[in-house]
Amino acid sequence: MRTVTVVGASLSGMYAARELRAQGFDGRLVIVGDEPHRPYDRPPLSKDFLTGRADEDQLALTDDEERAELDAEWLLGVRARGLDVRGRTVLLDDGRTVSTDGVVIATGAAARRLPGDDLAGVHTLRTLDDARALRAELTRGPRQVVVIGGGFIGAETASSCAALGHDVTVVEAAALPLVPQLGPDMAAVCAALHRRGGTGLVTGTGVESLRGSGAARTHRDSTATSHHGSCAGQGTAEGIASRRTVTGVRLTDGRTLPADVVIVGIGATPNTGWLAGSTLALRDGVLCDDGCATGLPQVVAVGDVARVGGTRAEHWTSATEQPRVAVHNLLAGRTVDTVRSLPYFWSDQYGARIQFAGRRDQADTVCITEGAIEDGAPAEGGFLARYERDGRTTAVLSVDRPRPFMRARRELARDASPVEPAAR
Ligand code: FAD
Repeated sequence: MRTVTVVGASLSGMYAARELRAQGFDGRLVIVGDEPHRPYDRPPLSKDFLTGRADEDQLALTDDEERAELDAEWLLGVRARGLDVRGRTVLLDDGRTVSTDGVVIATGAAARRLPGDDLAGVHTLRTLDDARALRAELTRGPRQVVVIGGGFIGAETASSCAALGHDVTVVEAAALPLVPQLGPDMAAVCAALHRRGGTGLVTGTGVESLRGSGAARTHRDSTATSHHGSCAGQGTAEGIASRRTVTGVRLTDGRTLPADVVIVGIGATPNTGWLAGSTLALRDGVLCDDGCATGLPQVVAVGDVARVGGTRAEHWTSATEQPRVAVHNLLAGRTVDTVRSLPYFWSDQYGARIQFAGRRDQADTVCITEGAIEDGAPAEGGFLARYERDGRTTAVLSVDRPRPFMRARRELARDASPVEPAAR
């Protein structure tokens, strides 16, 4: 291969670029990213970056020295709009094309949107620009914040807003947040963190609509000025756009929660739109075998966009582990290696660290093997829980027990010959 193009200049794309060089690829390396920023780390966006404990420099995933060593062509701020597999070309939305022998698809996922979320005061949190906008809003004094969705991003964002002193309510459509990830018992224990952190939790009701004030809010579109040079009218009366501002969240049970900031945390969808017509199999992600291979020998996929061996993970660790295997297979031209690591993720909420590893099933029983749960919430010092099926541990969860957790995770990985899901 003379040219490899990595599409997506974030975590898994960056790791893929590193792996290409580490595994001996010395040809032309092109990295395409639609964000204008160099690769940065997303987990702090909902945590320390939002609360102001981390700044943008601390998010960087690479530095000048590494970039010089990588010797890649960076095409940033430009979107790939198509992949012509036969012609071995990546099409860019500024009209350029990149001729390439191999492609690593690393385009991640985008925050799911709600109808009406273009009101001022309504935010999603996926990108650095999202986090900048939300952080700016949260520093304007006490706010009534409603977070829609009690998943990890919603819970972490609620926790950060509460830490900043805002009045926060989380709305979750299911009876409890995080049940698919943790199961009902442990989900209830983690939901208690909201209560302990002073956040309201409204469950079992959906969102009907977002309410906005009729009064227009003035909003200067400063990005238009900086990206497109000085246009006549920018910064003048014609350059001031009007937007209605959010005032509340109307729930399906008839209630309306007042809000001047709404954060929509209802999950993410894989960025596969640009691959339509490419002949790749797309189903909630790019379908891949266990080795991140797409079925076309010169195309692999990694990270949040990839459905690897039937599972699409949206976790930092998967996005950093898959590229080694994917690049190995890309350079070999066939699947010679598979991803064997156990799923792992962590989340920081209300000063507690939640860590989970393994593959749980709804039929598993859960036992607390260290620490305790008190009044339905993690006791001081946290706990370690094991999920078990047929006498075998299938997954481990801890709250604030990082060392025992890492030990248990290692044991689990060692013992992990595949366990069949229980019959439903
Ligand atoms: P992404 O990070 O989504 O990057 C994909 C990149 O490709 C983006 O820059 C995107 O703009 C770009 N792109 C998309 N389409 C195109 C196109 N057509 N052309 C060019 N470029 C394109 N995981 C954990 O395990 N623990 C955590 O605590 C945790 N916290 C998180 C907090 C937040 C706020 C978020 C958003 C995620 C968090 N995650 C966490 C998940 C983790 O960050 C992701 O799994 C990881 O970022 C996935 O990396 P990726 O490179 O596959 O995708």
